[in-house]
Amino acid sequence: MMENVLLIRYGELHLKGLNRPFFERKLIERIKSALSGMNAQVRREQGRIFVFGIDPSMNEQAVSNLKRVFGIHSVSPSVGVNKDWNTIKQAACSLMERALAANASSTFKVYSKRSDKQFELNSVAICRELGGYLLSRFPKLSVDVHSPDIQLCVEIRDMAYIYTEEVYCAGGMPVGTAGRGTLLISGGIDSPVAGWMMAKRGIELIAIHFASPPYTSQRAEQKVHSLLRQVAKYSGRIMLFVVPFTEIQELIKDNCPEEVFTLVMRRMMMRISQEIAIKEGCQALITGESVGQVASQTMPAIACTDAVTSMPVFRPLIGMDKDEVIAISRKIETFDISIQPYEDCCTVFTPKHPRTHPTIAGIEKAERGTEWDEPIKRAVEGTKVTVIKAFSKGD
Ligand code: ATP
Ligand code: MG
Repeated sequence: MMENVLLIRYGELHLKGLNRPFFERKLIERIKSALSGMNAQVRREQGRIFVFGIDPSMNEQAVSNLKRVFGIHSVSPSVGVNKDWNTIKQAACSLMERALAANASSTFKVYSKRSDKQFELNSVAICRELGGYLLSRFPKLSVDVHSPDIQLCVEIRDMAYIYTEEVYCAGGMPVGTAGRGTLLISGGIDSPVAGWMMAKRGIELIAIHFASPPYTSQRAEQKVHSLLRQVAKYSGRIMLFVVPFTEIQELIKDNCPEEVFTLVMRRMMMRISQEIAIKEGCQALITGESVGQVASQTMPAIACTDAVTSMPVFRPLIGMDKDEVIAISRKIETFDISIQPYEDCCTVFTPKHPRTHPTIAGIEKAERGTEWDEPIKRAVEGTKVTVIKAFSKGD
């Protein structure tokens, strides 16, 4: 009997002591959902997760889905066979044949791990015996213990698991193990990356987008959907709240000095986001800001923005250069969507000379005399909710 098995290693979870069962349960949930429709049977055993039941023809797709599951360190497509020495040798041969087909050069090393201490050979003997056998079967092979082209690994557990490949995955923590956060998403490059980074730390995302029709178009909103679909391939489904922001932006334009437009706007965004975040059981706001990138992201400007929230605001890009952010956005495939040229509400009424060293007192003064509470309430009430899934019809 030879079974197709995906052997999954999870890294950081080892550190989590008493929380470990919780982390493992969440990780298994995420794995099941990444492999849904593939007949996956998921089993946890001694610091590893094993996936059985996947048709070998689906292996590539399965591994590519697992590469996006946070909490997984690496995956090895393996075969699982009975712990019978002859069977193990045969299985190792057929794996070696496959590895040689993909790899003309041909040094190798056998690694082994024996968790089942009843097994007839210890791990040193397994390496020696199997190495010798493979050398006799494949004349072109030679051993290189320092940097082998092919690493053939045998793990003796409930079954014998054999593999030659270790595919590195996304790392991080399983989504859902670190609470919920609210991502403020524009259509730009930064905010989807910020969301991805926090999801990588185990935070489940909801998203808020501010739309100002007719200044912003339906296509700008569609762009946000596309971006979130991409992020959702990692984070799982995301509830998107689209907030009607036109009334507030016009109020700002008509009542505040031009040089603080953007800052007042950002403060209103934070107030509205915090209300929605609390309702949705979130514990933090997430933005794509980084120090000094634009006038509204100087330290004094960030202090003014933060002054209206009591919830922590996570800014995972805070110390990053644009190049570094772009590198991630390319990796997670949001970049090409982000650079589509649709206007964002931030580009409506942009001041020519924004203030870069605002004070909280100064901004509060600029806001005084205008009634904001009712318009904020209307914006929250007018919010439209959509669920964004990684894969939707028509994709
Ligand atoms: P991005 O590339 O994410 O648009 P940015 O560098 O253009 O960021 P700003 O436009 O100043 O920066 O926006 C700063 C942050 O404010 C964004 O990263 C995002 O978190 C939030 N934000 C901006 N515009 C919107 C919007 N229309 N809806 C929701 N959040 C927004
Ligand atoms: Mg922007």
